[in-house]
Amino acid sequence: MAHPQPRPNVLQIPTYVPGKPPTVRPGMTAYKLSSNENPYPPLPGVVEAATRAVAVMNRYPDMGSTALYDALAARLGVPATDLTVATGSVALIYQLVGAFCDPGDEVVYAWRSFEAYPIAVTTAGATSVQVPVTAEGRHDLAAMLAAITERTKIVMVCTPNNPTGPAVTQSELDGFIAAVPDHVVVVVDEAYLEFVRMDDAVDGLATYRAHPNVVLFRTFSKAYGLAGFRVGYAVAQGPVAAALRAVSLPFGVSAVAQAAAIASLEAEDELLERVEALAVERARVHAALLEMGWVIPEPQGNFVWFALGERTADFAAAADEAGIVVRPFAGEGARVSIGETEGNDRLLTVAKAFLAS
Ligand code: PMP
Repeated sequence: MAHPQPRPNVLQIPTYVPGKPPTVRPGMTAYKLSSNENPYPPLPGVVEAATRAVAVMNRYPDMGSTALYDALAARLGVPATDLTVATGSVALIYQLVGAFCDPGDEVVYAWRSFEAYPIAVTTAGATSVQVPVTAEGRHDLAAMLAAITERTKIVMVCTPNNPTGPAVTQSELDGFIAAVPDHVVVVVDEAYLEFVRMDDAVDGLATYRAHPNVVLFRTFSKAYGLAGFRVGYAVAQGPVAAALRAVSLPFGVSAVAQAAAIASLEAEDELLERVEALAVERARVHAALLEMGWVIPEPQGNFVWFALGERTADFAAAADEAGIVVRPFAGEGARVSIGETEGNDRLLTVAKAFLAS
């Protein structure tokens, strides 16, 4: 019997490839460096807050996430009406495209970039316009501007860019936003914001205050180490934020996730010390790779990018043999998260041996 047919675009949605868990080998600790996760587990206070919330899991969560909105508004110095809390920042991509694009409307973004972008855009029946990153893995902002047409509703700037690593500067972003038509939404996906260490770094909050069409995407998954809880948020001026909230999945942020996010904001200083340690590790790994002769784009997130082309699968296999799992993008390269020191050391050993092979 024939099955009911979904909308044609549903058949074209690319598959999200999640980072694999490492192959377990007897006597060898394995490290998962494939999903840009934070290697530190949640702080005890965060676990306690989440555990208390488990006791009321027979109830729906506060659908308005009121306490979390208030905590974020206080922390960021923005009105709660400019915020949208969501089931991970990945949900915000769907919400934004759903709220702003009719079928056939265009969304411009760099490529390669975060793999959820084409999935969300295709799901909505909108059209992806992918603008290749430069040889250094940077956004080609001039080419992205040139790609804007009268059908463009959204342009996305992923900074630092997943998976290549570089971030745009505030001056580059200012020049870009000034040239984007006012009716087009400019997303600044700042998932890795806290890891940025560079001159002229983007000040997302100042940028959103200055521009009614700017939306910041942020997440508790990376710097705050809560990937499993699924909480992200957007910052945008009132009317845009209201549109994002209007298309939210009702009850999408669990009580446990709300409690963990609030407790993490309270423990922010300690969490940011961990981020600093990871940034130091990243600098160590990057310097060692350059020293070996690897060409690695400037890493501003919690990961490094190896542009390996056809050798990508071989590199991933060699890493797996050594007990680390990386994230290969077939025929393009491999992204490797900065993790525990031991895992990072293993990466350096693999990378050195691979160059000699
Ligand atoms: N944006 C970027 C650039 C990312 O790399 C990720 C996660 N890999 C996300 C958004 C989504 O993160 P989450 O849904 O966990 O908040």
